[in-house]
Amino acid sequence: MGRDWAAVFGVADTDHLFEHFQSERYRGREYRYLPDARHGVERGTAILGDAVVRGFPSIPRTLVLDPGIPEYFDGPVAVEEKLNGYNVRVADVNAGHWEEFGPLAFTRSGHVCRYTTETVRDQCPLDDFFADHPDLQVCAEVVGPENPYTTHDYDEVESVAVRVFDLRDRETGDPLPVAERRDLCEAYGFEQVRSFGVHDPDAAVDAVGDAIDELDEQGREGVVLTAADGRRRLKYTTSAIHRSDLEHAFALPFDYGRDFLFSRVIREVFQAVERDERDEVVRERARNLGESILLPAVETVRAVDRGEPVGDEHVVRGDPEVLDRLLDQFRDRGLELDVRADRRDGDERVVEFVKLARATRDKTEFYLEGGTIDE
Ligand code: ATP
Ligand code: MG
Repeated sequence: MGRDWAAVFGVADTDHLFEHFQSERYRGREYRYLPDARHGVERGTAILGDAVVRGFPSIPRTLVLDPGIPEYFDGPVAVEEKLNGYNVRVADVNAGHWEEFGPLAFTRSGHVCRYTTETVRDQCPLDDFFADHPDLQVCAEVVGPENPYTTHDYDEVESVAVRVFDLRDRETGDPLPVAERRDLCEAYGFEQVRSFGVHDPDAAVDAVGDAIDELDEQGREGVVLTAADGRRRLKYTTSAIHRSDLEHAFALPFDYGRDFLFSRVIREVFQAVERDERDEVVRERARNLGESILLPAVETVRAVDRGEPVGDEHVVRGDPEVLDRLLDQFRDRGLELDVRADRRDGDERVVEFVKLARATRDKTEFYLEGGTIDE
């Protein structure tokens, strides 16, 4: 122990900060993590022994490209694709006997995930990288149809893939400049997010507009803009992802519906206005938006009516024991799982499971049986 935590986190009152940390175990060893941002310390910050792995900061969003981009940046900005998967930070914690585990993968909320750890080790040459850069963390999006947290499909990903979008100091969270980060990823053979070039803020408005048209057409999520020094970031997303977020949310209306609805509608409103769309184009947008809300919800209520289980469906592939740990991890956190298939494919085990959506199931049953609602 014996670290000056006030200096590490830049806060005076470390007792209050530490009250918000929770503890958890990884392979029998205890670590702490911060489930929500507190006192300026990012959500997902983890402490293992004396070592700190800083959380990944939240990225602000602009609702209009012009003047959103030139207002926010005063120098060149890198435009990169924003992928829709889950955030992972990989760090090689070389303190307090944690070094024996090698590089570990942390999810957004700061949990060490055994499955993700195995996945990033399989796909990224981590040993070479951490031998040269032990103080960095690798920030990446895990994407693809076979993963336990998200479900967005990418044509180029058959199962699961890791795409790096940041390299930061493990302890301070300071990012590398964009060009240096992209060069290092290239040098070590990390796959990274697609770049749409570096532009002056005014020119970036059009560059992002074009990128968004292309990504929207392909049903992809959007872009993240980053100042050349890596410090300031901004995100902007496609209409396609607003609809697919709503489809996902309203497939489980009583679990996710409310949290998703207002923000996506507002994004659509400002996008329609900035694009100065004609009446019939706005009407088309409205129809698509309505369909992405109502159709999946109707389907789910019908499924509950037929007595079928409803929830988030996932497929995972990998080492049989690692998948056991993954399912245990979900059950330990209170999720109810419905395992639909569990088979071998060569050396690998493939598990299809549903994270049951209890609120949607229970409320839907209640209303279908004539339960009343006070509104
Ligand atoms: P928060 O609001 O806390 O950032 P969120 O889940 O709502 O959380 P998103 O809207 O998905 O955040 O946007 C930020 C996330 O986008 C990052 O945490 C990261 O996981 C993901 N991401 C995907 N591609 C990129 C990229 N190219 N650059 C930065 N982040 C990216
Ligand atoms: Mg995301």
